[in-house]
Amino acid sequence: MAESSSPIPLPSVEIHFPGLEQLFEVYGELERKIADFKERAGIDCLWKCQTCCSTAKYVEASIFEMLPLSLHLWEEGRAEEILEKLEGVHPEDLCISLNLHPTEEVPEGCMNYSFRPLVCRLFGFSATVDKNGDPRIVICKPLKERHSGIDHRINEQIRGNLPVPLMPDFSRKIAFIDPRLGQEKYPINIALWEALELVGQKIHLHKAAERERG
Ligand code: SF4
Repeated sequence: MAESSSPIPLPSVEIHFPGLEQLFEVYGELERKIADFKERAGIDCLWKCQTCCSTAKYVEASIFEMLPLSLHLWEEGRAEEILEKLEGVHPEDLCISLNLHPTEEVPEGCMNYSFRPLVCRLFGFSATVDKNGDPRIVICKPLKERHSGIDHRINEQIRGNLPVPLMPDFSRKIAFIDPRLGQEKYPINIALWEALELVGQKIHLHKAAERERG
């Protein structure tokens, strides 16, 4: 893995899930493409805006995308506390990583930004593909309200060959790395719960095997 492709050091609990290095390579590629797109299109998020995290009914992710955060939480000894918080969570509940009540220690916003899944990286700076196969930028409401006609302007730029990351391409790339855990999407809190359980089971099995070896 190219060092620059991973925005974070992968967690080092003593178990391994194949494909996480490739996942961060894909995230690295996406980050570079988004930086280029933002510069050429002249757009960026509004200062301290949390609207996409705090108003989205469903933020969806695969279990595979939530493995890095799950490994990190197990490594930090916080997995059981988070599993308890996720007990009985509703699919439409806000993402558990979103902090709307800042303190001196924990600022407002995403508390797990480095570990966020694909949709959180794509939203605002990527395109879907319409029924004719043409890319269409997905712009959030606050940006549309602030800059009237912004989506029309950017779609024109895209038609004029401005390269834009395509959501379906990146989703496919990730699903391809781990078809079993990467294909199906769930509400983000449910995907996190499943990933935490999976990592927990692996840690349990790993410890049992170590005990057997003596
Ligand atoms: S993981 Fe972070 S960026 Fe994604 S929805 Fe949750 S709070 Fe927002």
